[in-house]
Amino acid sequence: MTWLDALAEKAVDGETPTREEALAVLASGDDELMDVVAAAFRVRRRFFGRRVKLNYLVNVKSGLCPEDCHYCSQRLGSQADVLTYTWLKTEQVVASAEAGVAGGARRVCLVASGRGPTDRDIDRVAGAVAAFKERNPDVEVCACLGLLSAGQAERLAAAGTTAYNHNLNTSGGHYADICGTHEYADRVATVESAKRAGLSPCSGLIAGMGETDKDLVDVALALRALRPDSVPVNFLIPFDGTPLAGHWELTPQRCLRILAMVRFVNPDAEVRLAGGREIHLRTLQPLALHIVNSIFLGDYLTSEGQPGAADLAMIADAGFTVEGADAGSAGNGASDGVAVAGRPDLVHVRRRGAGTELPANT
Ligand code: SF4
Repeated sequence: MTWLDALAEKAVDGETPTREEALAVLASGDDELMDVVAAAFRVRRRFFGRRVKLNYLVNVKSGLCPEDCHYCSQRLGSQADVLTYTWLKTEQVVASAEAGVAGGARRVCLVASGRGPTDRDIDRVAGAVAAFKERNPDVEVCACLGLLSAGQAERLAAAGTTAYNHNLNTSGGHYADICGTHEYADRVATVESAKRAGLSPCSGLIAGMGETDKDLVDVALALRALRPDSVPVNFLIPFDGTPLAGHWELTPQRCLRILAMVRFVNPDAEVRLAGGREIHLRTLQPLALHIVNSIFLGDYLTSEGQPGAADLAMIADAGFTVEGADAGSAGNGASDGVAVAGRPDLVHVRRRGAGTELPANT
């Protein structure tokens, strides 16, 4: 049995890997990459089969935040050329969220910039949640509104909100390097208050912000201690006009190792591949589906993702099934006998290169 087999077995049994084991995943070489992915896939398959949950982000209030999170294009003083607008109206929120549902999303995430909501903001969001749930009772709603004050989580829960997202983002030791206006402990407290109110806790991280392997393992273990139901893993989108502009420190292979480490540490959590997947994993995105069981469909808060149709095609091509969609037969991992969906739209007659006046495609 290899060390990766042993690690997968531990995770399937619900045991926490040691710090050294988690660090070893991050330190493994490219020659072992497929073994790392295969071991993480065993864990993913044990808890989630070959299903992929689709989530859809709605930025209900964009930009102009007074906080200074260095990674964020909506921060105080951000020069990033992103959309800025104040609270969307309820009907705008519902229409945007329903676009995600039409694309296959089973959860919509209503996100607002800012340190945290006022009680009036909670009223506003609660109204939008109630209006959306009335028309879409089977779709989960996650709210992400920043640091919560006493009683706010309870009010969101009473309005029909399913979950609350508040990411730890990085380790406690690294937190002061990425934000000076609030503290790591504030973030932990908000996740705990959401949990106490009966909201499904969602909390994750951002990789690629100058953290060490030890920081990544620390935040993964801290998340495990909080027992979130879902763990979004973001890869830094280094927007021009933010302090982390030009910060490109991730390779596709490292992204896969980070996802695998998070999976081993949080084996039965919904590990969600979040912002930055297209620009950092690039052509290796489908391999990540063997580790995570959840992605965002389409666009992010302030940046565009690949087209939603490309997300769905990627999932189908990799042999996975969208959660809540008609299952087909991908559940047993065998693709023989499955009707092949043709893609005539991908066939293009050559009109360039040899025999033409146009430059070759090289
Ligand atoms: S509190 Fe949220 S919106 Fe504001 S800067 Fe930080 S991450 Fe961005």
